[in-house]
Amino acid sequence: MIFCTLILSALACQEPLPSEVRVADLKAHIGFLASEELEGREAGKRGGHLAASYIENQFRRLGLKALGENGSYRLPFQLRKDIAYNVVGVLQGTDPELSKTYIAIGGHHDHAGLGSQLSGAMGFPNEIHNGADDNASGASGVLELAEYYAAHPLQHSMIFMTFSAEERGLLGSKHLVESGILPNSEILFMVNLDMIGRLTKDYLFVGGLGTAEEFHPLLDSIFANNKLQLELDDRGEAPSDNTSFFHGGIPAIFFFTHIHEDYHMPSDDADRINYAGEVQVLYLVQAVVAKLDKESSLTFNNLGGMGMPADFMDRMMEHYQRINERKNNKGKLGVRTGGVVGLGLAVDSVRPGSAAAIAGLQDGDVLLIVNGRHTVDMDQLRRALASGLKGEKVTMQVLRGGDKVELTAILQ
Ligand SMILES: [Zn+2]
Repeated sequence: MIFCTLILSALACQEPLPSEVRVADLKAHIGFLASEELEGREAGKRGGHLAASYIENQFRRLGLKALGENGSYRLPFQLRKDIAYNVVGVLQGTDPELSKTYIAIGGHHDHAGLGSQLSGAMGFPNEIHNGADDNASGASGVLELAEYYAAHPLQHSMIFMTFSAEERGLLGSKHLVESGILPNSEILFMVNLDMIGRLTKDYLFVGGLGTAEEFHPLLDSIFANNKLQLELDDRGEAPSDNTSFFHGGIPAIFFFTHIHEDYHMPSDDADRINYAGEVQVLYLVQAVVAKLDKESSLTFNNLGGMGMPADFMDRMMEHYQRINERKNNKGKLGVRTGGVVGLGLAVDSVRPGSAAAIAGLQDGDVLLIVNGRHTVDMDQLRRALASGLKGEKVTMQVLRGGDKVELTAILQ
């Protein structure tokens, strides 16, 4: 070190930067995955497919190896009547021996769609549940780490994965582990990133640390020297995809920045992500991975039980209370519509005394635009009104006897 500070520039002598994980990249990935266009990325639906294709394109851009048919990174599985896709890419390691085994990094890309009850939506039906933290944050973390390691390969080979149908009960990761497509017995350990975008007061949960005998001896010094406020847990199960790998006999570590008031709500949006915080989480993941990359094998330890933050249930109860309050506060317009008439929906009846009646809506009017949305069918009207709470304004443009009339209602 002294030698190089004398001879070379100081810069050349510094340790290489731990990471090139970038806030701007995370913003781009999460911004897209949690955009309205993806309609909450429900497994088996259009938005879920768009998410899988986006991730596939990233894996292809990075030059990862595909495992699917015809060079596809998307691995399909049946989800009742629908098809859903896990996305998997493999990166070759640098060491002739160690590269025969894999370090796997994953996180789910699906979320609760347009208020899908099956996928655990907690908002109203037809509201878009964007799922920026849950789990565009984790899927984007997988992409960002894939980009980093593609440029700086480890000794071990790596598997990068995003899962579908996590919100339906870990179905995508379970399918992947049981499918025989992954080299399960050659996976050294798995890292699961689920909800890592809302770092608050530097709190981070790290679970599954008892699932390999070597985790604590090798990693405790990293955790002790980290400035994040870590809650460490040994148990191998959680309501997330690390569980599927643990059940497959693979040591699995789970990173999670905890739930919050937007959990499974339509307000889980990209602008609420703590991007710099997510970078901190990914730095820690990198430190853990770098340490374990030196190991030729790990000893699986079958330590089950739900490994979640100690106050998880308390926080969930608070959350349910907020959700119930919101449900009781759902606003009504008081209009019944009939069929589609031209570019709008015919008003069949207006309930006397309702928000619509007070606004001056009349039987026979045709709703053209509601809250900025062209109401060309019932779906559009439902979406326009989906998030409305009592006391909120609804703007309407209606066609009445050849004239366009603008009305404003206050939901009741
Ligand atoms: Zn979720």
